[in-house]
Amino acid sequence: MHYFSTNRKSPATSFRDAVLAGQPDDKGLYFPSEIPKLEPDFVERLHAIDNEQIAFDVIRPYVAGEIPDDDLFEICSETVNFDFPLVEITDRISTLELFHGPTLAFKDVGARFMSRCLRHFSSDRSEKTVVIVATSGDTGGAVAAGFHGVEGIEVVILYPKGKVSKVQELQLTTLGGNVTTLELRGTFDDCQMLAKQALADPDLRTRVHMTSANSINVARWLPQQFYYFYALKQWAGESPVISVPSGNFGNLASGILANISGLPVAKFIAACNANDVVPRFMQTADYEPRPSVATLSNAMDVGAPSNFVRILEIFDNKFVDLKERLEAVSVSDETTASTMREIYSQCNYLLDPHGAVGYRALADHLQTHPEQRGIVLETAHPVKFDSVNEIIGTQVDMPASVRELYSREKRSTEIGIDYAAVREIIESKI
Ligand SMILES: *Cc1c(COP(=O)(O)O)cnc(C)c1O
Repeated sequence: MHYFSTNRKSPATSFRDAVLAGQPDDKGLYFPSEIPKLEPDFVERLHAIDNEQIAFDVIRPYVAGEIPDDDLFEICSETVNFDFPLVEITDRISTLELFHGPTLAFKDVGARFMSRCLRHFSSDRSEKTVVIVATSGDTGGAVAAGFHGVEGIEVVILYPKGKVSKVQELQLTTLGGNVTTLELRGTFDDCQMLAKQALADPDLRTRVHMTSANSINVARWLPQQFYYFYALKQWAGESPVISVPSGNFGNLASGILANISGLPVAKFIAACNANDVVPRFMQTADYEPRPSVATLSNAMDVGAPSNFVRILEIFDNKFVDLKERLEAVSVSDETTASTMREIYSQCNYLLDPHGAVGYRALADHLQTHPEQRGIVLETAHPVKFDSVNEIIGTQVDMPASVRELYSREKRSTEIGIDYAAVREIIESKI
């Protein structure tokens, strides 16, 4: 197993080097040279296998012996040490709740796995690794929590002041320790620009190893397959349709990998908000990125989905094959909100805006496919999004872990759009 660049200009590399580099120099994405096939009876036996063992069995071929089995098993068990319940909403739709991790969103899985891989690969180096993340909300919290307390690693987060939700801000700013948070008077794009500038700074690069921990890193992407197996482990009956609320398309691309490896799935639905580049592509076969627009499901406000090339790569760019596996739909904010109200009042289940996009897309598909049943991935807890209280007209119950956050002290450094300030903070970590 090795990893090649989807642009095919940079040389192929090992798992370790793909994790440490993040992205190949030719600006493609790393992709595995083969997609492993699981033992034929693996899926039948799923219900009797522990989650940590499933994670280990799924990821082991991708790591290709570059982490010793014992260490890899420990990394897997630390990655998935929380619940992934499949909850029935109606007799035809269940939801896989991916929000029981430390920051209440599915990104915890990839972030926890990646942080531990980095720790493993950095342990033979004397210098520290500085992880730099620009976030619009969910990513920064998951990455910070994933790396918090991990030896040899310093995390520097940039987030736009006043533009993340209350719970997200608490998750970003109350960890302390090896996590430093910069609150930037600017937009997410400004944060991203400064993060990129730091990562490319030639002088800093000679003095410190920096990495971005963004969602295209293979160590964040590949472990997202795990919970598709946990879904099937709890499922009875014909292969489900799986609806995935999608933005950058990493989550969906990993589900399709699991499917190619042998996990039975009747069909995937890419559930998008008004940012509909992929639904348009599925109609016209023309891929036209465009500037993102703001929606209720803001973690999916992506106008140029970075992981979509991986989906094309899986299908060898054969549009017909892709169309057979994947349906893509766009759901408006209005419909997202009405779906949240409807499911709350009729089924007593509170969806977050991202899950609601997925639910609507799935329910509409099932209307025209009366023989099928399906699963929607609930990618985050509703308490993370300030809009939810307003939409359903009542206060969302807070999990204990969130109540506890409110008692912690916020620690962040406010800065302008000022590279010198960012650089100074990074230098103080070396
Ligand atoms: C990041 C995120 C998504 C989108 O996932 P992608 O892998 O980027 O498609 C969906 N929902 C929530 C809550 C997220 O945080």
